Amino acid sequence: MHEFDISWRVNSACQGLDPDIFYPESEDNCEQATAICKSCHVRIACLNYALDTREKQGVWGGASARERRRLLRVGRRSA
Ligand code: SF4
Repeated sequence: MHEFDISWRVNSACQGLDPDIFYPESEDNCEQATAICKSCHVRIACLNYALDTREKQGVWGGASARERRRLLRVGRRSA
């Protein structure tokens, strides 16, 4: 089984924050999470991880689930 690297997580801007921020009930309610992601030093690693693992829930790397589906459709691996 392929193991994904999650070592980037120790440097994340969201560490220790309320996870609910990153799992809003509505796709239209992601602003607080994406604002935090903007200042995160591991944003690209986080986004790539979510794309690689086809993560379906929450905000990862500044991208909502809907945005990640779009990225996967157009074949982009980083933003
Ligand atoms: S990019 Fe966003 S979700 Fe990913 S580790 Fe950074 S703050 Fe957390």
